[in-house]
Amino acid sequence: MTDLAARWRATRAAVDAACVAAGRRPDEVTLVAVSKLHPVAAIDAVVAAGATDVGENYVQELLAKQASAATHPRWHFIGRLQRNKARQIAGKVALIHAVDSRELGVELGKRVSPGAVQPILIAVNVAGEATKGGVAVADAPALIADLAAVPGLRVDGLMTMPPPTDDPEGARPHFAALRALRDRIATPALPLPQLSMGMSHDFAVAIACGATLVRIGTAIFGERPAA
Ligand SMILES: *Cc1c(COP(=O)(O)O)cnc(C)c1O
Repeated sequence: MTDLAARWRATRAAVDAACVAAGRRPDEVTLVAVSKLHPVAAIDAVVAAGATDVGENYVQELLAKQASAATHPRWHFIGRLQRNKARQIAGKVALIHAVDSRELGVELGKRVSPGAVQPILIAVNVAGEATKGGVAVADAPALIADLAAVPGLRVDGLMTMPPPTDDPEGARPHFAALRALRDRIATPALPLPQLSMGMSHDFAVAIACGATLVRIGTAIFGERPAA
């Protein structure tokens, strides 16, 4: 696992370098280590090396890893969440990245313990891809306003996952569009400070466009085993 520690450090260094290149402070960008389909020992190895935030995509896998990890990172749920599994995740993670419907948000709010708050991001389908989750750009302001009013939820910002491109620059217009949407709809009462965008191959572009959370799997853990 020393290899994983070295890969985590190299990835964090690359994120830091991208921040500096973009004229930003490295502490403005949280590196979420995306560990789906990798063993819990791999999570423990990167957390021991300094990782603070870990992202998972599947409900059962997240819960099993939370129960068995020897370390205590901040857990993020970054996958698509079905409404019938919302209660299993509400209150269990630091941030849910991909809320894209009023029904899902309301269900999450209902399942949070009284007095607690579940931070969420709104997933936006900036490219308008038919096969992907995420709310359409045109519908995002209304959804955000609705969910900001749901007790038990706190809307911290936006997330996107652009269409795959070979050239990381291909993602730039999508990242820029998410940033522009946030800048257009943020208010002092609802500042939406977090932008979750950028993965292994395009995080530098995302950081240049204002990402505050980058979700990086392969660069740290290597290729994923088949599901
Ligand atoms: C798997 C996944 C990632 C990590 O992707 P890599 O290319 O392995 O860095 C990031 N975000 C989401 C939503 C994912 O499902």
